[in-house]
Amino acid sequence: MTKSLHAIIAGAGIAGLTAGLMLARSGHRVTILERTSVLEEAGAGLQLSPNATAIYASLGILDRIQRFALAPEALRVRRARDGVEIMNLQYGPLAEMRWGAPHLAIHRADLQRVLVETIAANPAITIVTGTEVLGFAAASNGIQVGARSQSQTSGDGNVRFDGDILIGADGLKSSVRDRLGLGEADQPVYSNRTAWRALLPASLAPREALTLETNLWLGPKAHLVHYPLRGGDLVNIVAIVEDHWHRDTDGEFWLRDGNPREIKARYASWHPQARNLINAVQEWKSWPLFDRVPTTRWSVDRVILIGDAAHPVMPFLAQGACLAIEDAAALTAALTATNGQINTAISLFEKKRLVRAAELRIASRRQGAIYHMSGPFAMARDFVMGKLDRDRLMARLDWIYKYRV
Ligand SMILES: Cc1cc2nc3c(=O)[nH]c(=O)nc-3n(C[C@H](O)[C@H](O)[C@H](O)COP(=O)(O)OP(=O)(O)OC[C@H]3O[C@@H](n4cnc5c(N)ncnc54)[C@H](O)[C@@H]3O)c2cc1C
Repeated sequence: MTKSLHAIIAGAGIAGLTAGLMLARSGHRVTILERTSVLEEAGAGLQLSPNATAIYASLGILDRIQRFALAPEALRVRRARDGVEIMNLQYGPLAEMRWGAPHLAIHRADLQRVLVETIAANPAITIVTGTEVLGFAAASNGIQVGARSQSQTSGDGNVRFDGDILIGADGLKSSVRDRLGLGEADQPVYSNRTAWRALLPASLAPREALTLETNLWLGPKAHLVHYPLRGGDLVNIVAIVEDHWHRDTDGEFWLRDGNPREIKARYASWHPQARNLINAVQEWKSWPLFDRVPTTRWSVDRVILIGDAAHPVMPFLAQGACLAIEDAAALTAALTATNGQINTAISLFEKKRLVRAAELRIASRRQGAIYHMSGPFAMARDFVMGKLDRDRLMARLDWIYKYRV
């Protein structure tokens, strides 16, 4: 039996919630501190690949997740200009056998709901909302976490939590990371790419967008991904374009409403099927895309980062949340392997995960460059992709999907 610890987690995103469940299952007590006062039904579609769904299967919650998810039957890649199919990877039962778990598409809010409901039934985990982690300090044999609580009506709202380990799962703009002192250069790197995201009701979508497959359209300096979601009631759309995002007046890059006219103009020369889908959307959100240059560590003493706080990646391989889920399992496994020796467990975790995250960051960036090729490079890409048979296509994905913590 592993020594039981009290883990404090900053952030109730996919990383924090999954880590809470994994740790509690291994006998640890968990407190999750979340900045927002209500866990919002926010976000859009997420593709969960077998490396992540296998972890939820091991937690015994894959059945519940599958109730809300769809399993696309194929990945269909088309050329933007004329709609010519470049590649069609039929998943089928063979894919699940090969990769050992299903490939799913789910609304982020649905996944979050399953995780939160599972947590609610587990007395070892507490979620404290409206509580923003501000800092931390080493204590004798433990860690003190300082936070500001919105529910403290008296005093300055400052509260303290004592634990054995602090897990920073507080996303791209992690304040835990800011306080780790990883160096001046340790900033999110803007990729000169923006993701336009929309959820289109099926009743407004062109019929061909409702088939149970993941669609990827490739064009010069842009691509488009769409797949059905929520039992086919919605179509999840992500249009990624190269551009130069301007900072807001306060120097921030962040999520904003996207002007439909702007994105329509961007896709005006694309095949009518892609264009019709873009034109059907009235409400867009646009997100500047960031990742980070890999560092040599994500920890100081009893504090460790996971998920986007540690290693945001470009979404071109749809692996950001999957990596966060892997982290949750890997950190729990490291604590078990070292019988709760925190510093040894953190070193073990970093040794494995720094490599995996760096490989996926590089591969995601490379994938983005391949997707956005034009001219003879695009022709060569299409030729090579078109020549790959199903087995070779799947073999190229094995290192991502067959990975087990
Ligand atoms: C366009 C796009 C498409 C994507 N598609 C996919 C996909 O198909 N598949 C996939 O695997 N990934 C995908 N991703 C990536 C994925 O969304 C992220 O990697 C993932 O959501 C990161 O989860 P997280 O829990 O680490 O961080 P977050 O989701 O950012 O959660 C962080 C949490 O911490 C809280 N928080 C922040 N600061 C504090 C604080 N100081 N104290 C307390 N709480 C705090 C926040 O409120 C939030 O709840 C995509 C990303 C984009 C941009």
